[in-house]
Amino acid sequence: MKIHESIASLQRELKEKAGAKVGFVPTMGALHSGHISLVSRAREECDIVVVSLFVNPTQFNDKSDLKHYPRTPAADAALLEAAGVDMLFLPSVEEIYPTTDERVFDFGEIDKVMEGATRAGHFNGVGQVVSRLFDIVRPTKAYFGEKDFQQIAVIHAMCKVLEIDVEIVECPIIRDQDGLALSSRNALLTTEHRAAAPEIYAALKRGLSLVGTLSPKELCCEVISKVDSNPLLKVIYFQAVDARTLQQVNSWAESESIQGCIAVQAGNIRLIDNIKLK
Ligand code: AMP
Repeated sequence: MKIHESIASLQRELKEKAGAKVGFVPTMGALHSGHISLVSRAREECDIVVVSLFVNPTQFNDKSDLKHYPRTPAADAALLEAAGVDMLFLPSVEEIYPTTDERVFDFGEIDKVMEGATRAGHFNGVGQVVSRLFDIVRPTKAYFGEKDFQQIAVIHAMCKVLEIDVEIVECPIIRDQDGLALSSRNALLTTEHRAAAPEIYAALKRGLSLVGTLSPKELCCEVISKVDSNPLLKVIYFQAVDARTLQQVNSWAESESIQGCIAVQAGNIRLIDNIKLK
């Protein structure tokens, strides 16, 4: 695996392999099996696998979150090497953002709800970094986890707005044995909050079992009160949304595909998860 810190050196190696099917996995590092599942899928489907590791400052609305975001570059490189990655792109902030000009996106209603409503500017930052990385790597396929369900919708919208020709591959959520969705931020949970966190997926599964028995609104109240019954957890939102538009549904018949998306505050750490309800 070659490690590239500059765009020029990465592009030089990509140019040597012109014509190859390039699979790209953008990450912020502190890698776990969720990230590696994306890499493995790319490895199966593409000739060359490129992974980027860049903690993107523009998608953090909370500067303390950025400061404390876990960083484990040596361990990440070892995991990626073992997973058969060809190129690891490790750029500096200056390499990604050489000027202070900020690209501003209009994602319509998709980024006005849920994560977008509670983390100002977050998805604009995601759009900035992913569009820049796509521009640099020019992948055939790019791999994203359904753990960040709304992010995938934003990426689709961004590719449409910018007319980027890339296949977006959506990969299932990888969970710990107790059901907690793997996340780099899990390492920052206190022992008590880590012990409480599996309640989130348990509540999502209970919600799934109530589809059809309860209305979407009643089901949301049920899930929220189940999570909130644990004093260590506080629901920020839980919504049953159309999987494409991300707007809330009022009935199960209203949409072909409905996702239940949740964000929970566990001490200082914000956790997100989701489940397919229909
Ligand atoms: P991040 O490093 O958090 O920006 O995540 C990089 C990519 O890994 C994103 O596409 C995430 O959705 C994906 N990812 C993170 N956690 C998981 C997980 N538990 N299962 C599947 N994909 C994940």
